[in-house]
Amino acid sequence: MPCWTSLPMPSLSLLQHAPADALARLLDQHEALPASADVVIVGGGIMGCSAAWYLARAGLKVVLLEKHRIASQQSGRNWGFVRSLYRDPLELPLAREALNLWPGLNEALGFETGWRRSGCLFLCADDAERTAYETWLASARDQASDTEMLSADQVAAAYPAVSMRTEGAIVARSDGQAEPTLATLAFARAAIALGATLLEDCGVSALDTEAGHICGVQTEHGPIRAPIVICAAGAQTYQLLQGVGASLPQKVVRSTVSLTAPLPPMNLPCFVGFGLGLRQRPDGSCIIATDAGTDIDLTLDSLRASRYFLGEFLRNRKEFSLRLGRPFANDLYARLTVPHAQRAIQPRSPDIAPNADRVDANHKLFARLFAGMPAAAPVKSWAGNIDVMPDALPVIDAAWPVPGLLIATGFSGHGFGLGPAVGKTLAALAQGFEPTTELAPFRADRFLRGAYSRPYAAI
Ligand SMILES: Cc1cc2nc3c(=O)[nH]c(=O)nc-3n(C[C@H](O)[C@H](O)[C@H](O)COP(=O)(O)OP(=O)(O)OC[C@H]3O[C@@H](n4cnc5c(N)ncnc54)[C@H](O)[C@@H]3O)c2cc1C
Repeated sequence: MPCWTSLPMPSLSLLQHAPADALARLLDQHEALPASADVVIVGGGIMGCSAAWYLARAGLKVVLLEKHRIASQQSGRNWGFVRSLYRDPLELPLAREALNLWPGLNEALGFETGWRRSGCLFLCADDAERTAYETWLASARDQASDTEMLSADQVAAAYPAVSMRTEGAIVARSDGQAEPTLATLAFARAAIALGATLLEDCGVSALDTEAGHICGVQTEHGPIRAPIVICAAGAQTYQLLQGVGASLPQKVVRSTVSLTAPLPPMNLPCFVGFGLGLRQRPDGSCIIATDAGTDIDLTLDSLRASRYFLGEFLRNRKEFSLRLGRPFANDLYARLTVPHAQRAIQPRSPDIAPNADRVDANHKLFARLFAGMPAAAPVKSWAGNIDVMPDALPVIDAAWPVPGLLIATGFSGHGFGLGPAVGKTLAALAQGFEPTTELAPFRADRFLRGAYSRPYAAI
């Protein structure tokens, strides 16, 4: 059970991005599992790590438990967009709060996050997209004062790297970007520096209750008692909640990303257009990916909660590829061999393969969109399992289904940018304070009550 300490870590270059090469194991030092904590956090993604930092800063005894490595799942595999642009208006207050926090984080944490206020640009490929963005802007007006529509000519003048004719664009000037692994590790290191205990290879198998209140967790190395538990276990959250009698319609889709070799400066904000998502990093390398297309790996779990997703799936059928392959076999094998109590922990490090067809298609799309640029051959590709909710809004809730339990999950492919605001919100809830943003749209029981809407947008 490796323990993260506040001793100096090897420096992580901005060139590192994919989880396999960016995760530094520090010391082969073993520490006894603490018997108790003020707050136990399950999951070492950006939500868990930022909550750990805010709680440690408030002087609480925090223990964060990660079944594999900090930032090994979505928080280390994403594109790194920090955006308010074209978010569901219900999520905008949280996005705005996060955008206020990001610029001060390097200094507050004492570690680099890779934050840059680069803006975010969505091109309009046709009239339908232009209308959709105009409608969004009208509905978001008071929360999007930094955002404007551009004409086709303005796009051509401002972004000469784009070689395809557009119907204009929408641009949010105060959006930005950060380096996913670096930023998550920055929160982890800063929490450790304030005395938090972060343990890797320490999976949580169950949430413990006593007299109808949360009282701690069972880990693979023993129990820890705590009056508050934050469940931020990403795609495994629903499994842990099942153990306390709660059902969450959370599903997983697989999304493929590539990193190119350094290219000449493209002078683009975080970019989405003609089906391509792109972010150029400080060294010139680009993250490229399909902006909406994802893969669904069929497993025996696929039918669970499908009534919540079927309508949206059928409406957007062309965005999804159904795959029956190794994940099905792995899932079947796990069901036969892994004891039920270990199901939220295994597989510890799931095999999430990039889709080679999408890598190839993105490469070709890049060449058409940016005809003046050198070829963007991927130097590496990876994929991430995105945890999605039926309305593509997260669950951020307290005391459901038991007092003492806080949940932060289901960020549906756009939670990285929200991470600092979510951590701050969780820390407030854990201390019994009123959070600064309205959480009603994120209540966990909205699905049981039928009080939710269709996703605002596919991204
Ligand atoms: C390809 C891709 C692109 C994306 N692009 C963007 C983007 O540009 N901008 C944006 O804002 N968002 C983006 N996202 C979404 C964003 O990455 C996620 O919403 C966010 O990282 C979720 O953070 P998290 O902490 O909830 O989950 P995770 O990062 O998945 O962390 C959950 C952690 O819990 C651990 N865990 C699970 N079960 C247990 C257990 N039983 N015991 C202990 N630990 C456990 C897991 O190992 C994992 O480390 C993208 C996601 C992907 C995959």
